[in-house]
Amino acid sequence: MWDFLCTKRFATEREEFTDQEITFAGYGITDPKHNDYLGLNIQGKAVIIYEGEPVSKRGKYRITGSKEPSSWSQDWRKKVKAAGEQGASVVFMIASDFKTLSGQMRRFMIGPTISLGEQEARSKGPALVIISTAMARDLMGAQVDEIITARKRIDKGKKPQPVVLKAPFELTTRLGVQRINGSNVLGYIEGSDPVLKDELVVVTAHFDHLGKRGEDIYNGANDNGSGTSTVLEIAQAFALAKQKGMGPRRSVLAMLVTGEEKGLLGSEYYVENPVFPLEQTVVNVNVDMVGRIDKKHEDNPDYIYVIGSNRLSTELHLINESMNARYSNLELDYTYNAKDDPNRYYQRSDHYNFAEKGIPAIFFFNGSHEDYHRPTDTIEKIDFDVMARIGRHIFYTTWELANRDQRIQVDVISE
Ligand SMILES: [Zn+2]
Repeated sequence: MWDFLCTKRFATEREEFTDQEITFAGYGITDPKHNDYLGLNIQGKAVIIYEGEPVSKRGKYRITGSKEPSSWSQDWRKKVKAAGEQGASVVFMIASDFKTLSGQMRRFMIGPTISLGEQEARSKGPALVIISTAMARDLMGAQVDEIITARKRIDKGKKPQPVVLKAPFELTTRLGVQRINGSNVLGYIEGSDPVLKDELVVVTAHFDHLGKRGEDIYNGANDNGSGTSTVLEIAQAFALAKQKGMGPRRSVLAMLVTGEEKGLLGSEYYVENPVFPLEQTVVNVNVDMVGRIDKKHEDNPDYIYVIGSNRLSTELHLINESMNARYSNLELDYTYNAKDDPNRYYQRSDHYNFAEKGIPAIFFFNGSHEDYHRPTDTIEKIDFDVMARIGRHIFYTTWELANRDQRIQVDVISE
């Protein structure tokens, strides 16, 4: 039977901790209504806290003043962050129902997570150790009554009283790290204009998907075989134009990125380690899922969701609209571009990493469907005529961005 658990999310840079005492810090909350750290000096020390938050006898939460708990009850990160801000190096958090909790956490605990670079995998904050009440009693030893009294005071809404446990402990946390290499694939078409060729238009699609789970193969035809093929077609069109002496004035980078499904990792890597200067990178055009028709557009399959076009540059938005009016005549659907859209698609594909660096980005997307992230996302469900029309439209917009006299301006202040 387990009595404690550490999560990967809170694996710290430091692997070993040892001390002679642990400071009791109530519920580990720093809220204007209730602050467990008031007057405590825990710099470099370990704290022991309860999960949850102070509740009155009548079941009223002291922070919200109602029967509804505050975010301090659900969000461990908030507590770890609060302890970190106070300088704590270790947080022992007592779980009232450790058995259930560890059962729920099991899958998450043993499954791997993928992140970019080993250092990023380690948090700079304190280590979090979730412990059972049995283990908490062991740590408290003869001082258990002191702690229970101190907790009762807090629940009654009185000022927290510090208790320092004489509890020598050693804690060792090791993170099993496996290195996986991934690749972004870059195709560069140098611009023809002696000056403008230093500027870059980047067209992206992610080429990774979910792989195999058990016997199930996740085909990812729409997500994102469709975007990958579209980018290849666009790259071919640019290369062909160049061959015929009519190449784009600005340079074009067609980039297929990896690790999107694990958290936009390939594009993150690129913007952190750019091959071409980001200051000279004019725009990112991103294609992720094109050629499927969602429910809303069953009657008019010539549509595309456009996301992000006006977030940093009004011009980008207008260029895409004018190319559409001139050549493509698709229905440009901006539903998912709404800032309060609950799907948050703007944050969910590779263009976002460019936008985060202040580079205008436009994202083309056909919307979700019943095969999204399922083995049934297969090729025969793609409407290739529709996909080709969308691909041409993206090409027109990209062509204009690569050829106009002035690079598009960033004129929208982003939040
Ligand atoms: Zn995708």
